[in-house]
This record gives sequence, structure tokens and C-alpha cells, in this order.
Amino acid sequence: MKKYFGGIEAGGTKFVCNVASSPDDVLADKRFPTTDPVETIAKAIAFFQPYIEKKQVEAIGIAAFGPVDLDARSKTFGYITTTPKPGWAQVDLLGTIQRALRVPCAFDTDVNGAAQGEYYWNLENRELDPLLYITVGTGIGVGGIVNGKTLHGLIHPEAGHMFIPHNRETDPFPGACPYHEDCLEGLASGPSMAKRWGQPAETLPDDHPGWNLEAMYIGYLISNLVLTLSPKRIILGGGVPQHPGLVEKVRSDVKEQLNGYIQSQKIMATIDEFIVPPSLGSQAGVMGAIAMAKQLVER
Ligand code: ADP
Ligand code: ZN
Repeated sequence: MKKYFGGIEAGGTKFVCNVASSPDDVLADKRFPTTDPVETIAKAIAFFQPYIEKKQVEAIGIAAFGPVDLDARSKTFGYITTTPKPGWAQVDLLGTIQRALRVPCAFDTDVNGAAQGEYYWNLENRELDPLLYITVGTGIGVGGIVNGKTLHGLIHPEAGHMFIPHNRETDPFPGACPYHEDCLEGLASGPSMAKRWGQPAETLPDDHPGWNLEAMYIGYLISNLVLTLSPKRIILGGGVPQHPGLVEKVRSDVKEQLNGYIQSQKIMATIDEFIVPPSLGSQAGVMGAIAMAKQLVER
């Protein structure tokens, strides 16, 4: 019998569950809004149950919003920890799923999952390690692969909250991060754009000054990542970069901000191949979770 794997992209807005052997062979998929943890996790468990009973699925990968605990020796391994999302702080996401379904489960952050998806399923990206994945959506997150493994650490990178120059004369908006006010996420997430301009980001016209500001802020994030981690490719995903023309503006701002200091042709000449949209589109996260499950079985 053909081997399938389970993948969960556990997002703060929605859960995406898939049974697949690869991005081209999806046996089943389901998405539902992230409501309270008991109801949401129960829906995910119910989705996989029949495939596990039939022994079609041997392992599940979970890529979750966080912060999460990734330390396998910790008592709260697999928990969502300090999220401001109501009801979800200190929720044992991994344990609840593992106890109900009784199959091995892999666990990582949503953005590490998406990085894994782009790395594992796109052979071109395997040559581009370190590979970083940025999402700019409801929040801003950065995940990545270094030496073939996702980036973990003291907790895990939270580069979406990095501090960047904020000129209060040209941008008087105080920022919307509940922890830091004008960190990058506070200035440039979808909801902070909506708060600054009084309308959802996707309704701002193409010539609105908000897009130049947004490109500059995302540019600072990428410039700082280039300077710190020296990635060979940066994948820019999430809802906000879907705005037509934004990615092009970001590329040109990164070149301007780095100002010739990083002497790489990838930045000076072929930045279109250096900062790219996800090749798996909105499936990067869930396909990363499938890759995590597959690697758990094949290890
Ligand atoms: P999530 O982060 O919840 O997984 P998304 O990545 O889709 O989901 O991000 C949602 C955010 O992206 C919202 O704040 C929304 O306003 C913004 N957004 C979605 N589509 C677009 C678009 N085409 N242009 C600009 N902003 C968008
Ligand atoms: Zn912050």
C-alpha cells in the first residue's frame, strides 16, 4: 500500500490539514478556522482518525503558530506557550494529537514548516542553504534551514519582532505590537497596516503611500537577515506580499539599504532569484508538515 503522511499547518487564523505523499498527490485536505483549542484540535484529530485506522498514515507533522516549545527535553515540549491569542497560551498541541492518534508526530514552528516545505519539495532550494522563509500576514515570522536543519535555539528565531529604524516624523503611527509597540511586526503586519490607514491592507490602492513604507520595512527585515545569517535565498510568503508590485519594491529597497556592501551577484545582479515568492504558494506550510512526517518515518 502506498505511504501517505499527515500534515497540519496550525495557524492563528486557520488550521490546514492534509493527507498526502507529496504536493502532487494529496489524498484529502480540510481547512477550518482556529476557534478555541479544544474544538479546533478535536477537528484535526477527527480528520486524521480514519486514515490512521486504515494504516494509510503512519506519521503526522505539525507546523504551529507560536511561540512554541521545541525543546524535546522540556516538560512543555510541543506546547504553544505565551501567545496573546485568547485560550491558546500553554496549550499542549503536540501531546493532545499524539495521545489521540497514537502515531509519531514531528513538531516545529509554522515558518520553519514552510521553510522545510520549500526546501524539501523544491530541489533547486536544496542547493540554497541557508534558506529563509518570511511570512508577512497577520503576524511576521521568519523560519529557516541551516545545514539541512530548521533553525531552533534558546526558543526559536522570532525575527518578525526585530527592531528597525522608525522615523516618527514620516511615520507617526506608534506601532501595534502588544509587547514592543514599534518592532517590525508592530509596524508592518497586515493588522498594523489596517490600523495605521484605517482600512484593510488589501483595499489600499496601488499608488497609496503605505506600500512604499511597507516595502521599506520589509526591506529592513531582509537586509538585516542578509547581514546576520547570509542566506542564499529568501522566500517571501504570506498575504501582504501578494499585493502586486510589493515584492519588486522590496527587492529595490534591499539593494538600496545594503548600498553595495554585500558584494554578491545574487543581490547586485539577480535579486529576482534571491527574494522570491514561495514555489508552493499557500501550501508551503502544510507541505512542510508532510515533509516533516515523511522524514520521521524514513529516518
Ligand atoms: P495568516 O497570517 O493569518 O496565516 P495571511 O498570510 O493571509 O494569513 O495574512 C493575512 C493578512 O494579510 C491580513 O492582515 C490581510 O489584510 C493581509 N492580506 C491578505 N491578502 C492581501 C493582499 N492581496 N494584499 C495585501 N494584504 C493582504
Ligand atoms: Zn513585537
